Amino acid sequence: MKSSSEPHRTCEVTIVGGGIVGLATTYQLLSQRPGTEVVLVEKEPRVAAHQTGHNSGVIHSGLYYKPGSRKAETCVRGSKEMFAFCRAHDIPHERCGKVVVATDPAEIERLDELERRGRANGVQLTRIGPDGLRDVEPHATGLEALHVPDAAIVDYRVVAERLRDLVVEGGGEIRFGARVRSMREAPHGVILETEDGTTIQSATAVTCCGLQSDRVARQTTPDLRTKIVPFRGEYYEVVPERAELVHGMIYPVPDPRFPFLGVHFTRRIGGGVEAGPNAVLALRREGYGRFSFSPRDALDSLGYSGFWRLARRYLKTGLAEIYRSFHKPAFTRALQKLVPEVRSEDLRRGGAGVRAQALDRNGSLIDDFALVETDRIVHVVNAPSPAATASLAIGEEIAGLMRKRMSRHVGSAARDGKRQESA
Ligand SMILES: Cc1cc2nc3c(=O)[nH]c(=O)nc-3n(C[C@H](O)[C@H](O)[C@H](O)COP(=O)(O)OP(=O)(O)OC[C@H]3O[C@@H](n4cnc5c(N)ncnc54)[C@H](O)[C@@H]3O)c2cc1C
Repeated sequence: MKSSSEPHRTCEVTIVGGGIVGLATTYQLLSQRPGTEVVLVEKEPRVAAHQTGHNSGVIHSGLYYKPGSRKAETCVRGSKEMFAFCRAHDIPHERCGKVVVATDPAEIERLDELERRGRANGVQLTRIGPDGLRDVEPHATGLEALHVPDAAIVDYRVVAERLRDLVVEGGGEIRFGARVRSMREAPHGVILETEDGTTIQSATAVTCCGLQSDRVARQTTPDLRTKIVPFRGEYYEVVPERAELVHGMIYPVPDPRFPFLGVHFTRRIGGGVEAGPNAVLALRREGYGRFSFSPRDALDSLGYSGFWRLARRYLKTGLAEIYRSFHKPAFTRALQKLVPEVRSEDLRRGGAGVRAQALDRNGSLIDDFALVETDRIVHVVNAPSPAATASLAIGEEIAGLMRKRMSRHVGSAARDGKRQESA
């Protein structure tokens, strides 16, 4: 990994954030415009330290997302690119397929809507009844289901590490331990100061900061209207002796009011089966334990009017999620709706991830991926699931936006920076 102690650095593009979106953007930029002088800065000592390294590892096929939305378009395109990328770089992945199962008559209409969305998005799927379900997942029960054979699994940490290596091979520089603590857009370029004592003057910049994305974006866009609210997702592992209960992935029909998929079973590419994740409001953005707490993060959520509007609307659901987080039998009951044979003793606590979910002042969870653009900067302000699946497509789109900015601005920042250095 290149690293440099230069206190003042100039470049054409700075990318902030070494999760999968920042890495895919840098990779696509270097593919579209080889030789671009790009510096990626990451506050942690490694890539994929947050959402990218703490997720379910599913390559989604595009079933859930509103046709025409950015999520639908980039998930469908991005999953194809992700398969091609994994094949090209020998990254283990497996099309194990998934079923989405309606277990209650009230869910049939929602399953119809998912089927309609899936077909509109071009997802290959089959509607199946209890017998068809038994053929695919012998231990699952339900009234009706959708079978999506193309849904797959991968380890996104491995994908991120490969992207990291390709970025460096392509001439990009990656600086770890370099938290961006200030950022401003000046007439001659974007000025970033990092915690390792470097000032970077860049013609253009992209920020992909996941759980910190609103804070970083607000430095140059003070009127940003959204706030990141963190939702922790906790997993259980199915003990190896009972892993045969699940062949691929088994999902419930999601509640359309929320952008989360409901607790489900997922086979992991490294072996074993996980159950989860739930979605519990977290009091620390990058805290993975049930008792993780940050006064700053908690106050940030609690001091935001949108949070209280959301809380008033969904108080019961929120409390039920907290109860289920602490009460294993409640978690088990949710899973037994899908696989009745699973017992509490078949499950042991696993890891957790924290989702960065943007919320607006009206208390609405922003459903689609969202970018905020200025003259020189693109801020990614909402990239929840399926952004890992869609990362190569999102990166492609942002790389295109940056090329336009570079055609306007490149030359000026580098020249001005060199003048300052020699002054
Ligand atoms: C529990 C869970 C399950 C999920 N399951 C799936 C799934 O199965 N499939 C799927 O497609 N998606 C899934 N997702 C969503 C997916 O993981 C995310 O959408 C994706 O990883 C977002 O990538 P990112 O690069 O935007 O964010 P991150 O991976 O969070 O990366 C952001 C990076 O920015 C860095 N950063 C922040 N602030 C600064 C700063 N000031 N200076 C420098 N660096 C900074 C952080 O350290 C971090 O490394 C899941 C997410 C969670 C939490």
